[in-house]
Amino acid sequence: RIQLQDLRKEFDDVTAVDGIDLTIEDGEFLVIVGPSGCGKSTTLRLLAGLEHATDGRIRMNDRDVTGIEPKNRNIAMVFQNYALYPHMTGRRNISFGMKSAGEFTDREIEKRVDQASETLDIADLLDRKPQAMSGGERQRVALGRAIVRDPDAFLMDEPLSNLDAKLRIQMRAELTKLHSELGTTTVYVTHDQTEAMTLGERVVVMEDGRIMQVDTPQVLYDFPEHRFVAEFIGDPA
Ligand code: ATP
Ligand code: MG
Repeated sequence: RIQLQDLRKEFDDVTAVDGIDLTIEDGEFLVIVGPSGCGKSTTLRLLAGLEHATDGRIRMNDRDVTGIEPKNRNIAMVFQNYALYPHMTGRRNISFGMKSAGEFTDREIEKRVDQASETLDIADLLDRKPQAMSGGERQRVALGRAIVRDPDAFLMDEPLSNLDAKLRIQMRAELTKLHSELGTTTVYVTHDQTEAMTLGERVVVMEDGRIMQVDTPQVLYDFPEHRFVAEFIGDPA
């Protein structure tokens, strides 16, 4: 369980996150959606430990991690730009983080990479470098790097937004399947309403650094609590 308590982030004169309270349950697929600049990425970066909160607390499994470094939070991030190392093969890209953490033997790492590769069906990408992969293939390798460590949570920031429409829809289905197989808590950020409503078990609608509503997609459609939510959800991307 991840708890955000009155979380706030200010950059100079901008309040990016303006007092957020939210509990993310174990194993759920939670989507954060809202217009550009509403504070989605900042919220995710606070969760990852990549930004320091101006105020408020973050707890993971009742442990206060507010000031804890990213590498001690046992979470995995997936970004829109994949952030693969261009000079490394798929296998190296997937195993690199585990190797540098130094907590696994080489044999254990190989085993886990092979498992991840089977889950994602990417065996044929392990010996290739990113330049020889399509966008969707790179994103699968980036997912491989995230799942190989078996983290407590995945944090995903618009991971599909660089893909064309057809591949994006296909990858949504794959993410849903992956989540039903692994059951890992996932926080997924997007500005795309359709994506949010398709992927989210619960959806957080943000505006201007604040949470407007948190509900299942069905309840958001049927019972929007604000005009903003009704208009945002009703408005196709
Ligand atoms: P998008 O959908 O465009 O990715 P977002 O919801 O992810 O938007 P954030 O990136 O969280 O929005 O930004 C929230 C606000 O904080 C914006 O006004 C942005 O300009 C500001 N902001 C974000 N990062 C910084 C930073 N490092 N320095 C100054 N201001 C920042
Ligand atoms: Mg963003």
